[in-house]
This record gives sequence, structure tokens and C-alpha cells, in this order.
Amino acid sequence: MKVFDRLDASVTFSQEESLLLEAVKKLAREKIGPRAEHYDRTASFPTHNVEDINSLGLNAMFVPEAYGGSPVSYAAYLACVREISAACASTGIIWATTFHAMKPLIDFGSEEQKKRLLPRIAGGGLGALAITEPSAGSDATGMKTRFTPEGDHIVVDGGKTFITNGDVADLVLLFGKWSEADDDRKAISCLVVEKDTPGLAVLRTEDKMGHRASSTAAIAFEKCRVPRANLLAGPGEGLKLLLASLNKSRPSVAAHALGIARAAFQDAVAYVNERRQSGRAIIEFQGIQFLLADLAAELAQCEAWLWHVARLVDGGATDFGTEASILKMRASDLAMRITTDAVQLHGGYGYCKDYRVERLMRDAKITQIWEGTNQIHRQLIGRHFLSK
Ligand SMILES: Cc1cc2nc3c(=O)[nH]c(=O)nc-3n(C[C@H](O)[C@H](O)[C@H](O)COP(=O)(O)OP(=O)(O)OC[C@H]3O[C@@H](n4cnc5c(N)ncnc54)[C@H](O)[C@@H]3O)c2cc1C
Repeated sequence: MKVFDRLDASVTFSQEESLLLEAVKKLAREKIGPRAEHYDRTASFPTHNVEDINSLGLNAMFVPEAYGGSPVSYAAYLACVREISAACASTGIIWATTFHAMKPLIDFGSEEQKKRLLPRIAGGGLGALAITEPSAGSDATGMKTRFTPEGDHIVVDGGKTFITNGDVADLVLLFGKWSEADDDRKAISCLVVEKDTPGLAVLRTEDKMGHRASSTAAIAFEKCRVPRANLLAGPGEGLKLLLASLNKSRPSVAAHALGIARAAFQDAVAYVNERRQSGRAIIEFQGIQFLLADLAAELAQCEAWLWHVARLVDGGATDFGTEASILKMRASDLAMRITTDAVQLHGGYGYCKDYRVERLMRDAKITQIWEGTNQIHRQLIGRHFLSK
């Protein structure tokens, strides 16, 4: 598909990044993709995929060199997310979530915290980002998890829900409220909880429509004593961290959604060329060509915007929240649209599990909901144009 190949070729990577991306494509094509149906059907954690990702040392790209990593540009990271997610959306989000969770530690952690915690991630550890609570979803400031200082420790009480990697993470980046602060927004604080800390329990994992191989856990904290040394920034500085981390993770979930969209588009094109009705390939019908034309145009424009946002980030911009929201909203709406149309183009076969588009459609839905629902992104984008 020349249009998309040429768009991909317009993004410049260093020689090392290009080699890495080729290795990721090979891994996705030869190992991750072929296992995706099994992991989805059995709803089992894709351990072999995570092992293979770690044998390529891919986590190192999240982490600065000083702490055992080997960083790449944001564009190269997004390209890797898209490739892995096209092959297996569950594996893509498991891997990307570690990046989402560790970015605030990299950007706001102290030297001591980074030296102590980041090598674990560079070496293949998993991260989780715990914001959502049963009664605090779109409005995260309503969270109730409490952080009570007690000498050299912070005692955590509360619970988080829908936490990707929540049951398997080595490090959980946790948001809660400082008990001594009254103002809701000024109380939000952030700390790192290490695996097996007494008082941290996994209550259950969810039985989901899609992303069935990625675990989504409800976790609880009961008198969970976390060393004060694991508090990021200061008490009450969590909201700043939260907003900054979402800005970096939203383009990443968009790249993940675009991986799903690309996979569905490719499958749809292959099928309409091969499937024959009324004596001809169904792509020869104008109605089908018009549908493909609309999808191709949307996909090309959305991918171009992905690289625009990547360039902003790699260029050092920090105020790209609106661009990130536009990207997250469009990429996820498009993933849902393309996967739904891909099922339609497969006719009855698309509704059956023999074809990948059935899974892609189920996987696409959550991309419109997580990292801020698309209603919330529409609000954020609209608000940007309010005269101050
Ligand atoms: C599979 C999965 C993985 C997830 N992973 C994580 C994770 O790793 N970490 C984490 O912290 N969270 C995670 N989440 C949680 C996810 O981010 C939330 O589900 C999402 O933010 C929405 O919150 P909610 O489910 O409470 O819905 P609600 O906020 O209750 O929203 C319900 C509906 O109301 C709409 N709505 C709410 N407020 C407004 C408004 N102001 N204007 C217009 N419409 C509004 C919403 O758009 C939605 O349609 C995950 C969720 C799932 C299902």
C-alpha cells in the first residue's frame, strides 16, 4: 500500500532506530501476531510475548542511559507501539502501559528514586498506572485513596479499579490524596508502590469484551506502608504529574489505536480483492471503493497527525495537550470505524472468529474510553478555544 508506505517513510529515524524498528516488525510478524488469537481466546496473559519483548530489550527505550536504558525518539517509540499493537493489541497496551507509568518517575523523580527504581524497568519489569477508582473515572479529582504520612512511611488506604497490569506490575505509579490537605486538587499526590508491598492486594481481574489477554485489575490498599522515599515530587504535587503524564500517554494510546486501525484496513483490502460476488471481485463495486476511499483518507490524515504530535514532543514542546487530545480522539474513533467497516466488508465471515477483524473490532472499543473518554477529549479540545 504505497500511500501508507510513503507516509511511514517520511518519518526520519536514526540508523539505530531504523534497525530497532525492523527488529520490532519482525518480532510482531513472526511471533506476536501468530499468538494473538490464542491469547485472546484463552484470555491468558501473553507471557511469551512479554519475554520476547524483553529479549529484544525494548523496555530500555523508556529509560535514560544513566539508569540502564537506551532511549530513542518519541516518534520511534510510537512507531514500535503501533507495530506491536497491530499484531496483538493486548500485548501493545501491556508494553505501552509500562511507559505511561514510568514517564512521571523519569520526568519528576529524584536522582535517588531513578537510580533505585528505573533499572528494574530497563531490565524488563512491568509498570502500572493507577488513577481510576470505582467512583472517580472521568473526574479523577474525585479519588478517595488516602496517603497518611507516618514518620518515614506513607500509609495508603483505598482502592483502584480497571488497572492495566495491576496484578502483574513490578512498580505501580499510584495517585491518591494527602490526608493533611483539605483542597481536593491540592491534595493529589503520587508515589511508587513496589510489588509485594504488604497491604497491597489484587481483588480481581475483569472479564472483558476485548484486550482479553491484557489483565485489568481491581487493587486494594489496606494500611499499606510505603517508604516516604517513594513519594514523587512533594505532597500535593500529584495533579501536575497526572496531567503531564496523560499528555505523554495519549499519543501513545493513539498509536496503539492506529495499529488496530491499520491491521483492520489491511485485512479489509485483502478480503475485498479476493472475495467474489456476481462474477467479480467485490472491490470492483463502486460502493465498496467509496467506503475504502473514505477509510484510507481518514487513516492517512490521522497518521500524519500522529507524526506531527511526535515532532512536537521530540522538538521539546510541553504544551501539546490539545494536539494530543485531537489525536487520541480521532485515532480511537477511527479504529472503531475502520474495524466495524472491516467486519462489514467481510460479510458474515467477519462476524466469526476465523477472521482477525472480529477480534480487532472488540479490541478497538476500549480505545474510545480509556485515557479520557472521547467525550472528555471533545470538552478539552473545545475549551482550548474559549477566549481567556
Ligand atoms: C480495559 C480498561 C483498562 C483501563 N486501564 C486503566 C489504567 O491502567 N489505569 C487507570 O487509572 N484507569 C484505567 N482504566 C479506566 C478508564 O480510564 C476509565 O474507565 C475511563 O476514564 C472512564 O471512567 P469511568 O469508567 O468511571 O466512566 P465515567 O467517568 O463514569 O463515564 C461514564 C460516561 O459518562 C461520560 N461522561 C463523564 N463525565 C462527562 C462529562 N463531564 N461530560 C460528558 N460526558 C461525561 C463518559 O464519557 C462516559 O461515556 C481502564 C479501563 C478499562 C475498561
